Amino acid sequence: MRQKVIAGNWKMHKTISEGLKLVEQLQTKLAKNPPTQTRIIICPPFTSLTAIRDALQDRNIELGAQNIAWEEEGAYTGEISAKMVKSAGARYTIIGHSERRTYFKEDASTINKKIKVALKNKLKVIHCIGESLEEREQNLTKEIIVNQLEWDLKDLDSADLKNIIIAYEPVWAIGTGKTATPEQAQEVHQFIREILDAIFKDGIGKKMTVLYGGSVKPINAKDLLAQPDLDGALVGGACLKANDFLQIIQASEKSE
Ligand code: PEP
Repeated sequence: MRQKVIAGNWKMHKTISEGLKLVEQLQTKLAKNPPTQTRIIICPPFTSLTAIRDALQDRNIELGAQNIAWEEEGAYTGEISAKMVKSAGARYTIIGHSERRTYFKEDASTINKKIKVALKNKLKVIHCIGESLEEREQNLTKEIIVNQLEWDLKDLDSADLKNIIIAYEPVWAIGTGKTATPEQAQEVHQFIREILDAIFKDGIGKKMTVLYGGSVKPINAKDLLAQPDLDGALVGGACLKANDFLQIIQASEKSE
């Protein structure tokens, strides 16, 4: 049985006190409706990790970072290492988010190094992949997905993949209010599993948790999460309001 996961990417939102308030609201709501089959991961900014770790009482919520450095330590001003986020309470880290690929020019080689350094430091990885609008319009979606899986995950094996969650996030759907239809998302998720099988063998494609991300909201979560190859969602905007995030968690709880 694959794990259902709802992960929240706070991006560059929330001060420490604002973050603590959001977590408190979330915990109060979850105490009334505890999830039975969904793992919840929240990824606040680095500055809030320790405060939120200390405030977390709900064992269903785990902590993730949004990024890590590609090196373990050294003269890299402004960077934060895998070991540092781990010591601040993170058990996961997002790697390869399209905003990092676009604004910070992260390429496959950087992403590959980051994934390896995360795994070496026993952090689990939420690895984001997905095509741009232009690429989709040129019918390149599958090619992009194959390339990202091949190069971002270069030199890894099926044992490593047990500590990786894939998040399919079509770039045109992130923060735009445009969502892939459940059918579009399902088609790519199924394809991702086939490619993982082809590259890594061991039937790994069917075993891995694959999330969808891109303007997931309470209104569309149920239909997306009902698709057989979607195990959950990586949520941006809608995770910043406890009520919205909770409704998405509930949609996951009700999905088969
Ligand atoms: C994201 O940042 O990973 C994301 C999916 O954002 P949003 O839900 O706002 O589209």
